[in-house]
Amino acid sequence: MKLVCIDCGQEMSSNDFIYHCTCGGLLDIVHDFHNYDADFLKHLFNERLAERMTPYASGVWRYKELICPELPEDCIVTKYEGNTGLYSSELIQRYTGLNQVSLKAQSENPSGSFKDNGMTVAVSHGKYLGYKNFTCTSTGNTSSSLAMYASIAHANSYVFVPNKDISINKVLQTIAYGSHVFSISGTYDDGIQFLEKYSSDLGLYVCNSINPFRIEGQKSIVYEIAQYLNWDLPDWIIVPGGALSNATALGKGLHDLFTLGFIEKMPRVAIVQADGACPFHKMIAQEKNELTPELRPYTRASAMNIGNPPSWKKAMHIIRQTNGITISVKDDEILDAKAIIDKSGIGCEPASAATVAGLRNLVSQRVIDKEESALCILTGNMLKDTDALNEYHFGESNHSTFKNALHPTSLAYDTIKKYIL
Ligand SMILES: *Cc1c(COP(=O)(O)O)cnc(C)c1O
Ligand SMILES: [Zn+2]
Repeated sequence: MKLVCIDCGQEMSSNDFIYHCTCGGLLDIVHDFHNYDADFLKHLFNERLAERMTPYASGVWRYKELICPELPEDCIVTKYEGNTGLYSSELIQRYTGLNQVSLKAQSENPSGSFKDNGMTVAVSHGKYLGYKNFTCTSTGNTSSSLAMYASIAHANSYVFVPNKDISINKVLQTIAYGSHVFSISGTYDDGIQFLEKYSSDLGLYVCNSINPFRIEGQKSIVYEIAQYLNWDLPDWIIVPGGALSNATALGKGLHDLFTLGFIEKMPRVAIVQADGACPFHKMIAQEKNELTPELRPYTRASAMNIGNPPSWKKAMHIIRQTNGITISVKDDEILDAKAIIDKSGIGCEPASAATVAGLRNLVSQRVIDKEESALCILTGNMLKDTDALNEYHFGESNHSTFKNALHPTSLAYDTIKKYIL
């Protein structure tokens, strides 16, 4: 396991905590899977499904050999993350126009988002290096996740959140886990710049997605999907794109599975952004090789409200490797898709629903054929943004196609009976 610069190829030891090369490029973790025995590993991963209350009961550490093989077991900080459900629903089949569609609910993670898959690895690595102080900039989910793991590790967390356009539920969760929260008058992108400049002087271990260990942990999402589907993946996997760490990890994980011979064909990846914050989609659609940051991004799907995604180069690599595509969707489409996912009993926060909204468009544009199969990754829990629920179901907007209003009523038998189907 070593760190390699994605720009100049320089190699570094993974025992140092650095996330930028001297040339400024981001670092990537590269494993040597040369002597790995795929059949042995498959067997081991299946056996570990029976583990309880050991690090290997985690849906991330189950795959330790492919993620962070050298980390000593006693440094692992885990809440048995991963192990999330894979669902299908007739409602979603009808809504997307696709018969073979399933949803992977990373929303069922302990802190309520897929950030846990990566954070358990970042905090464990920081603990191994002896750090006591952890940091991140966040629209709320990264901070909730970091706050939770830092507390479990008896360490401190210092997090930066924009003082507007984020969900109060996530800030409250971060506060409640005991983090020191700085509410900043700036964007997520400003917070990242601050940390890039000062975190090392402040002695802070950075847990944003520029930290390559987080990406390694997030690879487990696609390992778990593959394992649950008996190593036979659907034709398409759809992810939302904000900072683009999830998309990057998905592509990396697929590449591992393919290289090791666990899967025989590479699914195609579709990255969905919101119209109001889609710098990556614009770059790909305009066939450019440089990302132009958006200075004032805005989408109601606040987890994707990012104008300058740090991992865009890594994500571009994934698009090439998986014959992938990008698409952007309107906020109203996201919120309607969310209402359908919620109503189907699965539930998610707005950003996650961009996947189903994107899939619906891709099927209607015939980019995805009706005979193909697709899987959407749901990134965050329904209760992560209760304001969004309030606005949709109780608000004045006439864009809420699937509104489910309250029935104010007296407790009279005849009135109630009229509602019963
Ligand atoms: C972080 C997050 C995203 C965006 O993921 P990136 O890795 O930043 O692209 C999407 N949805 C939810 C719920 C998130 O927390
Ligand atoms: Zn370099």
